[in-house]
Amino acid sequence: MSGRDKRLRWTFSSDDLDREDESSPEASAPGRSTRLITADDLDVVLQPIVDLRDGRLFAAEALVRCRWPEYASPVALFAQAEKERACGRLGRPIREVAIARAAGMPLFLNIHPEELSSRWLVRPDDPLSFHEGELFLEITESAAFEYFDLCRSVLKEVCTRTSAHLVVDDLGAGHSNLKRVLDLEPAIVKLDRELVKDLDKSHRQRVLVRSVTALCKDLGARVVCEGIETLDELKAVRDAGADFGQGYLLARPGYPMPRPVWPL
Ligand code: C2E
Ligand code: MG
Ligand code: MG
Repeated sequence: MSGRDKRLRWTFSSDDLDREDESSPEASAPGRSTRLITADDLDVVLQPIVDLRDGRLFAAEALVRCRWPEYASPVALFAQAEKERACGRLGRPIREVAIARAAGMPLFLNIHPEELSSRWLVRPDDPLSFHEGELFLEITESAAFEYFDLCRSVLKEVCTRTSAHLVVDDLGAGHSNLKRVLDLEPAIVKLDRELVKDLDKSHRQRVLVRSVTALCKDLGARVVCEGIETLDELKAVRDAGADFGQGYLLARPGYPMPRPVWPL
C-alpha cells in the first residue's frame, strides 16, 4: 500500500467526520466555495457511447456542468473542490442529477479519486443504489495506479453492492503501469483521445492501440475509444479491435442526449 493510499485509508476508516469537512489553508477560491453547490446549481450532459459493430447506442457518459461561471469547466470545478476537500460532497448531487436524467439507461459516471476516501460514495442512500439501468464507475488510469489499494477495496465494494462495473478511464493519457491497472480487473477500459487522435495517420500508433486493445480484451475488459472526431479515426479504432466508440463525430454531450450518428 502506498503512503498516499495509507493516508486516504486512514481518512476512510476514521470515526471523525470526513477530512473533507475540515477547511484547508489553500482552500480560498477566487469564486464561491464549492461546498455551497447543490443539485440546483448543476447540469449534467450525456454523451452517447456506441457499439462499433453497428453504431447502436450502448450507454451514456454523464459529464457535469456547473452553472456557476467560475466553475463552468468540470476540470476547474474539481480542481477547486480538491483544494477544499469537497470532492466527496460534490459527487453526491452530481449523481443525483445524472441518475435522474438517465433513468433506466446504462450509465457511465466519473468518480474523482478523492471520493474513494469520503463517506459520501459509500452511503447506502446514495443515488447509485437507486439507478435501474446498468452502472459503470469510471476512475482515471492515473488514479487507478496511484490509489490501487483503495480502488480494489472501496470501489470494488461499491461496485459489488450496487452491481456497477469498474471502468478505467483515460488509459494512455498518463504513464501508468498497464499491468497494475489491469490487475484491478476492470470490465471496461477507455482509451484516451491521446491514443485516438490521428490514429489513421500513424502506423506506430495503430500497432500500439491494436496491442493494448488485444491485451485488455485478453484480460477480460472491453474497450471504448474516446475522442473520435473524424471518419478516419472511427475506421481506425474499429479496425484496431475496439468494442465501443465515443466522440464528437458520433455525438456531442448534451441534454437531452443527442441521438448518435453512424457514418459508416
Ligand atoms: P473524461 O471523463 O475523460 O470525459 C471526456 C471528456 O472529453 C469530456 O470533457 C467530453 O466532453 C470530451 N470529449 C468527448 N468527445 C470528444 C471529442 O471527440 N473530442 C474532444 N476533444 N473531446 C471530447 P468534459 O466534459 O470537459 O470533462 C473533462 C473531464 O472532467 C472528464 O474527462 C472527467 O475527468 C472530468 N469530469 C467531467 N464530469 C465529471 C463528473 O461528473 N465527475 C467527475 N469526478 N469528473 C468529471
Ligand atoms: Mg470519463
Ligand atoms: Mg476519458
